[in-house]
Amino acid sequence: MRPAMTSINKTQLPAMRLKDIQSCMKLWKQPMYRAKQIMEWCNKGVLDPHLMRTLPIPLQNRLSEELLCMPLSKKQMLESKDGTRKYLFHNQKNRLAESVFIPETTRGTICISSQDGCVFDCPFCHTGTLPFNGNLSCGEITAQVLMIKNDLRENPAHNELCGVVTHLVYMGMGEPLANEDALHQSIAVFLDKHGLNISRRRITVSTSGVVPAIQRLGEAFGVNLAISLHAATDKLRDELVPINQKYPLHMLRECLDAYPLPKQRHITLEYVMLAGVNDREEDIAALRAFVNPEREKLNLICFNSFENNPYKSSSTEHINQFSQALIKHGIRTTVRRSRGSDIMAACGQLAGKEHG
Ligand code: SAH
Ligand code: SF4
Repeated sequence: MRPAMTSINKTQLPAMRLKDIQSCMKLWKQPMYRAKQIMEWCNKGVLDPHLMRTLPIPLQNRLSEELLCMPLSKKQMLESKDGTRKYLFHNQKNRLAESVFIPETTRGTICISSQDGCVFDCPFCHTGTLPFNGNLSCGEITAQVLMIKNDLRENPAHNELCGVVTHLVYMGMGEPLANEDALHQSIAVFLDKHGLNISRRRITVSTSGVVPAIQRLGEAFGVNLAISLHAATDKLRDELVPINQKYPLHMLRECLDAYPLPKQRHITLEYVMLAGVNDREEDIAALRAFVNPEREKLNLICFNSFENNPYKSSSTEHINQFSQALIKHGIRTTVRRSRGSDIMAACGQLAGKEHG
């Protein structure tokens, strides 16, 4: 007899593509059309087999016994005044995954976590100050999106799209390129044309600059790339983004130049504005020397403060002046509006007291 599998080792339903569900149905001697039915429920965000009404009860039971259908449980949901929703999920090992839904007039974006915590320790980032509790699996990454879709179906958002999910960004907790296998698998699930079928142009991976993994990401998927730049000299970047000590700016430069980019598209360079630290005249000069305006755009981000952190955000006025100066020098520059800061859902603020 086969030993009973602990649920942690079971195949996770949200990590399965249609072809995987089809293989499973074949193995279980089920008609093939069942696979499509299951996929359709998953695409709606319904992961509990007992709610998959079109399936016979014995199949519902077998799915829930033999697969891990819901690798995450919802712990909390907070909605901001601006409609942004922050979700806190936990997995079976009590790892946390925090995700944010951002409704805008013409798009609905989900910001996904790839790890519980982060080992990269950027000193201005809240996640970096927390203990690292491990990687999230592919199914735990994709389940964040499916569970939010389910919540939006039951409780629609108030934007014109009523909460349709159009874009995904890996900008939640963790460094996605330090969890490369699960990242790649999850992107493949999102791209699956029988699954959520999200175009690679609507998926963005944000990284602090793990150079070899950026190359592999470009070769495998060519999704949109965002780089946490934050400083354009090695001296300052070594401090603000410590992975720079391993992959300094000249290596990042080479890898960005080689990243596959469709026409009219740009790599986003994220730059959090820290008063007196990286917002000086000399930083404008360093940015002019580093940025390739043909292929890259700069996104200035207000620093979101949190307890016991020494940094201060540059003032809005200063950020606007900094942005104007860069635009004058031919660098496409935008300023990111902060969303959901009243519920600690803004960039770098995810993961609250629950992390102890
Ligand atoms: N680890 C990845 C993705 C997660 S962080 C990365 O570093 O890119 C997502 C973005 O939020 C990054 O650009 C990060 O630098 C930025 N960020 C982190 N802490 C922040 C803070 N306190 N205020 C504003 N942005 C912050
Ligand atoms: Fe990790 Fe990104 Fe935060 Fe740096 S900014 S500590 S890489 S999550």
